[in-house]
Amino acid sequence: MKILVINCGSSSLKYQLIDMDDESVIAKGLCERIGIDGSVLTQTVPGKDKYVIEQPMPSHNEAIKLVMDALEDPEHGVIRSTDEISAIGHRVVHGGTSFSESCVVDENVKQVIRDHFDLAPLHNPANLMGIEACEAGMPGKKNVAVWDTGFGMAIPEKAYMYAIPYEYYEKYGIRRYGFHGTSHMFVSGEAIKFAGLDPKAAKVIVCHLGNGGSVSASIGGKCVDTSMGLTPLEGLIMGTRSGDIDASVVQFICNKEGKSVDDVLTILNKKSGILGLSGGVSSDFRDVEAAAAEGNHKAEVALEAFAYRVAKYIGAYTAAMNGVDAIAFTAGVGENDKKTRKNICSYLGYLGVEIDDEANDVRGKNAVISTADSKVKVLLLPTNEELAIARETKRLTE
Ligand code: ADP
Repeated sequence: MKILVINCGSSSLKYQLIDMDDESVIAKGLCERIGIDGSVLTQTVPGKDKYVIEQPMPSHNEAIKLVMDALEDPEHGVIRSTDEISAIGHRVVHGGTSFSESCVVDENVKQVIRDHFDLAPLHNPANLMGIEACEAGMPGKKNVAVWDTGFGMAIPEKAYMYAIPYEYYEKYGIRRYGFHGTSHMFVSGEAIKFAGLDPKAAKVIVCHLGNGGSVSASIGGKCVDTSMGLTPLEGLIMGTRSGDIDASVVQFICNKEGKSVDDVLTILNKKSGILGLSGGVSSDFRDVEAAAAEGNHKAEVALEAFAYRVAKYIGAYTAAMNGVDAIAFTAGVGENDKKTRKNICSYLGYLGVEIDDEANDVRGKNAVISTADSKVKVLLLPTNEELAIARETKRLTE
């Protein structure tokens, strides 16, 4: 069974064709600059040269057609016809309160995606375009929506309600939703398998630390809390996002600098976090670490503040669950940066967490990085959102 996984951004489309018999990637690719000059598709197939097609893609419809051409290409492709594709799985960012579970796309699902354009203005319109392009390009195939907010929908009311007048929740659905759900679902499941924990009762904290970052707590694979909120701005310090902040800061900057709320929100989303705190060095941890190593104080503080915030969330979620069996690190920073993992864990001695420096000297593969005596297992587990989407698609269409 072959599943095509699609992840659409406003001007990009990432895809993977996955063979579900052994969960291997048959081909993967990226369409860039959709709707703008210089559109290009790049496809990678294990054992073959990169295939690059430079051709105008005015919309996602043309992008999907080009993806189909690339997959079917006699020389560079991997299938004879798209008939070989059993179903298509789509990452969809916001399903609001309507969906906690992945589902086969129908008119109602598409309406829900549309209804949440205001909560995910960059992503939901693109996700819908991707679905409609697949419906047009490959009619009759089932499309499955896998929601970024899905995993977080299980969190209880006490965790998702903001302490603001209730009417805003009732009128506009203002509450915490959580994002990166596909990654948290995948990694928490892998943690249970890899560490041999009780699938019904395991208490797992997943730290998804990429350019965007979030922490989730789950018991028996069911999410009980997660750090992002109404939008991905809440929670951790991220590459360019501030994470948790006193809302009065917004008003203060508006008044002092004559900026609009929208302007300040753009600053909090795009110019803050590690980038802002380091005084503009970079949003990339590697650059900030290099600057800190040369004695840049702001860069040092940015890294310390980042680790401190993650450690505080781990502490809070341990309290929320009344314990923790495993802490898993994933995504760009979590999978590659042993120093940051070690810094975060240096706050967790009270939990009996002990990091094995040799075991922690590892990148991008499943590993236990705590000592044999550590009271809590600390793990490195690479995330694989595409595979998680493909598994959901298989489950719902088989
Ligand atoms: P995204 O949120 O865009 O999916 P990723 O999960 O790919 O992000 O993470 C990207 C980030 O991972 C980069 O911005 C960089 O800060 C960090 N990163 C990648 N490799 C390393 C490394 N070797 N050391 C430290 N940080 C790294």
